[in-house]
Amino acid sequence: NKIPMKTLENGVKMPYLGLGVYKMTDHEEAIHAMTKALEVGYRAIDTAALYGNEEEVGEVIRASSIPREEIYITTKVWNSDQGYDNTLRAFEISLKKLGLEYIDLYLTHWPVKEKFVETYRAIERLYEEKLIRVPGVSNHHQHHLEKIFVKANVKPMVNQIELHPYLSQKPLLNFCQDQTIAVTAWGPLGRGKIIEDTTIEQLSAKYNKTAAQIILRWHYQNDVITIPKSVTPSRIEENMNVFDFELTQEDMLAMEGLNKDFRTGQDPDHFQFDF
Ligand code: NAD
Repeated sequence: NKIPMKTLENGVKMPYLGLGVYKMTDHEEAIHAMTKALEVGYRAIDTAALYGNEEEVGEVIRASSIPREEIYITTKVWNSDQGYDNTLRAFEISLKKLGLEYIDLYLTHWPVKEKFVETYRAIERLYEEKLIRVPGVSNHHQHHLEKIFVKANVKPMVNQIELHPYLSQKPLLNFCQDQTIAVTAWGPLGRGKIIEDTTIEQLSAKYNKTAAQIILRWHYQNDVITIPKSVTPSRIEENMNVFDFELTQEDMLAMEGLNKDFRTGQDPDHFQFDF
């Protein structure tokens, strides 16, 4: 029951599947969900300063008997903390809340205009100082990445974007893959809204897997990392059991055909930033 690892640009290995913890703000609920995930074999947790549960992430890691180096922790700098110095300060606070000595992956949460390049430069410095193992970004379009390439010594190694069968992001996915930037899908299940699709239901019957498993498997076969969120123990377990079957090429194409360029969240180019 092991989750396969994606080797990133610098050789660091990141689990192909982790637990997303957005909206897990209830202390007990968060602790239970994360503890369950580690018990069944998850080794990655995706949090953010915004989510308000970095303390819980730290608590769960310390309470487990799993060595720190076997767990992959992602957190993100929120929009109101961007810019070079602010990002360094925000990182210190996240590190303290998590109670960790280093973070595996640190991301710019959204590309705040005029600030995201400087924000990334601070993340790059944290990488040079070995306070993070991997530098990355989130919600960056190709044009944001290209602005970063001009100024950065080290390219972002991960871009975390909204991605699911109704928003397949083919051009951005191809661009990132060509640049050896690993793509993580947020909202990999379309935030629970696309589970009832007819094509996915047919595949579910064909493979004897749940709709969520079909979707997560499709991501994996596209070389995309996923971080599905659930606080329900049975679903936490269900979501990681996707590495024991394979969708045919034909069924992958059928899934590809579901794209509607449908966003559950905001477009990074028209984001209403919280200042
Ligand atoms: P998701 O696609 O993971 O959907 C989560 C919802 O799907 C759950 O609340 C639950 O209702 C349902 N669900 C989960 N497993 C299921 C199953 N097996 N069967 C049926 N329903 C199931 O959406 P998300 O939580 O928005 O995204 C996942 C993670 O991505 C977040 O927790 C967070 O860590 C990250 N995220 C990042 C950003 C960003 O801007 N970088 C934005 C949103 C989310």
